[in-house]
Amino acid sequence: MRPTETKRSISTILVTGGAGFIGSALIRLLSAQRDMRIVNVDKLTYAGNLQSLPGLNENPRYHFERIDLCDADAVRRVIDMYEPDAIAHLAAESHVDRSIDGPGEFIHTNIVGTYNLLNATLEYWRSMDSARQAHFVFHHISTDEVYGSLGAAGMFTESSPYQPNSPYSASKASSDHLVRAWHETYGLPVVVTNCSNNYGPYQFPEKLIPLMIINALRGANLPVYGSGANVRDWLFVDDHVSALWTVIRRGRSGETYNIGGGEERRNIDVVKTICAIMDDMRPDAPWAPHDSLIAFIDDRPGHDFRYAIDYQKISSELGWRPVEGFESGLRKTVAWYLDNPAWWEAVMDGSYQGERLGISR
Ligand code: NAD
Repeated sequence: MRPTETKRSISTILVTGGAGFIGSALIRLLSAQRDMRIVNVDKLTYAGNLQSLPGLNENPRYHFERIDLCDADAVRRVIDMYEPDAIAHLAAESHVDRSIDGPGEFIHTNIVGTYNLLNATLEYWRSMDSARQAHFVFHHISTDEVYGSLGAAGMFTESSPYQPNSPYSASKASSDHLVRAWHETYGLPVVVTNCSNNYGPYQFPEKLIPLMIINALRGANLPVYGSGANVRDWLFVDDHVSALWTVIRRGRSGETYNIGGGEERRNIDVVKTICAIMDDMRPDAPWAPHDSLIAFIDDRPGHDFRYAIDYQKISSELGWRPVEGFESGLRKTVAWYLDNPAWWEAVMDGSYQGERLGISR
């Protein structure tokens, strides 16, 4: 069989972290699939929010299970109860800055939680008949940050060496290695994807883009680390989840696929573009022009200089490529935050008030 001909038919998918930013976008996409049962397994940390899944509760094919992946018995129970054909593992502690201030949760969830999920999945997979075994897939969703930092040139490919620099990326790198080992040692069918920075609706406001939009809207400072010269490769979240869905159905077992947007921008240029869009959409704000709010602050420790993804493999093997351009995607994102204050006001509940984290003091 040629690689491009792998095609799994999935009637039940279990998504971990489905109340988070990318997981909820994936579930919104999957909910349009006819006859597919979706099981959302999420602990609902500060980053998990069921309001990101409007209308899903009325969908009889959707099931929510509030479970901590660190609870091995609960993880085993939920897998046995729903007998999924595929598992998409997105649950994680995901914010680099928080990992600098408090790495413990990252070790528990990202490493121990992934280990529990792999163990339970392997036990379940071994109990299947060979036809079902052949179609099953465990899809581990990871980050390009495992590859470390680039200089001014070059791109990460699937064979770039792992050189994680932050507690977050080190915990994700560990989980990638566990997933690989469960494939090589036990034969569990797995695919791993490593993706660049995402942005779009429903992203928790501690991440760069929503933080800048909300602060600009409130007339608060726009805190930029260092000189803002660090470069990220931005991908609109809907493009990411279309890549995930492609890989779940057609990715080759044991393979890694890099996913990127081909849209490199310096942080300061991202912030200035948001300001220009805000000038357009809120010309009468007393603090306009919005770039007057930009404030440079101390850089965070271990701040990777540049990430850029070569997505040639997923493009040539599976036919995926991003469709949203950065400026148009950013405009849609700003418009979404302006139209949905109820969503982000509810998540900024007093414990998080729009400050930059990760200064490590
Ligand atoms: P997020 O922080 O928005 O969501 C994470 C979700 O996981 C939340 O709903 C949270 O409640 C849940 N969760 C956390 N700990 C849990 C636990 N112990 N048990 C069960 N559920 C738990 O994250 P995101 O931005 O949606 O990222 C999703 C995945 O994609 C992560 O694995 C992340 O590493 C990866 N990723 C993210 C990006 C990005 O730019 N956001 C880029 C590449 C890869």
